Amino acid sequence: MFQKHNTIEKIKALKSNSGSHSPSIDTLKVSCPEIKIDIDACFLSNPYATELFMDHLRTDLISTEKLRSVLEFYPPQNAEVAKLISSAIGVSEKNIFVGNGAIEIIQAVIQAFVKKKICVIIPTFSSYYEFVGGDVEIIYYKLIKDHEFKLDVNHYMDFIKKHSPDAIVIINPNNPNGSYLSSDEIKYILNESTELGTVILDESFIHFAFEQDDYSQVSCEKLVNNYPNLVIIKSMSKDFGIAGLRAGYSVMEESRVKRLLSSGFLWNISGLANYFFTLYSNESFLKLYENLRKKYITETILFINELRSIQGIRVFPSKANFALIEIIDGRSSFDVFSKLLVNYNIYVRDCSDKIGLQGEFIRIASRTRSENDRIIKVLSEI
Ligand SMILES: *Cc1c(COP(=O)(O)O)cnc(C)c1O
Repeated sequence: MFQKHNTIEKIKALKSNSGSHSPSIDTLKVSCPEIKIDIDACFLSNPYATELFMDHLRTDLISTEKLRSVLEFYPPQNAEVAKLISSAIGVSEKNIFVGNGAIEIIQAVIQAFVKKKICVIIPTFSSYYEFVGGDVEIIYYKLIKDHEFKLDVNHYMDFIKKHSPDAIVIINPNNPNGSYLSSDEIKYILNESTELGTVILDESFIHFAFEQDDYSQVSCEKLVNNYPNLVIIKSMSKDFGIAGLRAGYSVMEESRVKRLLSSGFLWNISGLANYFFTLYSNESFLKLYENLRKKYITETILFINELRSIQGIRVFPSKANFALIEIIDGRSSFDVFSKLLVNYNIYVRDCSDKIGLQGEFIRIASRTRSENDRIIKVLSEI
């Protein structure tokens, strides 16, 4: 009992030291070796895609010993990697900027293109306000719990017109709540925002969203040709389950890509991330990935539906691979979070540090089918 209490105190300290992100699994393991994590439902990735990547890595690089040259020599430069992405997404390489993870791009884009005032929708991914320089004003547009955190596009556009920022940020589906804007809603916002300097659209979770019954992929990447102020940001960490590689890209007007490249970023992509992008441009890899993506969506929908049947929690609608959950039985989110971790070895996201969330919230990612089953069982018990 005493030891568990100690562990909980240590986790509290770790959490407050990691700012607005969760401590990584490695950090947790080093500081609290007594904690076992069986299920990481904090990190928001498709575990089947990680397996697929590992299979290819083993066959292509490890067993052939090509890994050595990937590590020994300089990888291709930014504009070369952009060509691989171009063939995968059908957008000219001139419109593509590659990043060492999407976070690097968020930082670069905000610093280069946001001058006076940025509007951030909350709750959100914290980098979007943390990287804003001191001389830029941040205005927050708050999603409302009673509207299930769904953005009302008309109300939002009125707000934007009233405050006239030079940049806005939309994450679709949004992190941490998973709410989704249809392609039509995004186009409506873009059409109403042509006077605006920069519209940042973060599609890091778009592979988990769908509009058709066959779950075919949706994305606004191609719209960059019609809207010169549109900047799309895409992390590969979540949908391909490769956060450790640090791979992301951005699609934007050619002059913006040139401007960013002229300020650095020549060799910001590692050899392994470049290897990933060669797979991303490979049709047979993408076919296998597509099957796993759809399988994972099917299981995620089932998981979120099962979460809804559990008493004492409220589950918000999500088209991402996670669900935002409000705890409505009087317990605190830290209570539930630490109990899941210490007693059941399940790691979820305590959202108490998220600005714009009033109440007790945790976020749970969908994992493999058997892990999801275990999460449902434990949550029902406690
Ligand atoms: C995780 C996340 C990112 C960062 O991704 P990296 O490619 O790992 O840097 C960017 N945007 C959103 C919305 C995220 O949730």
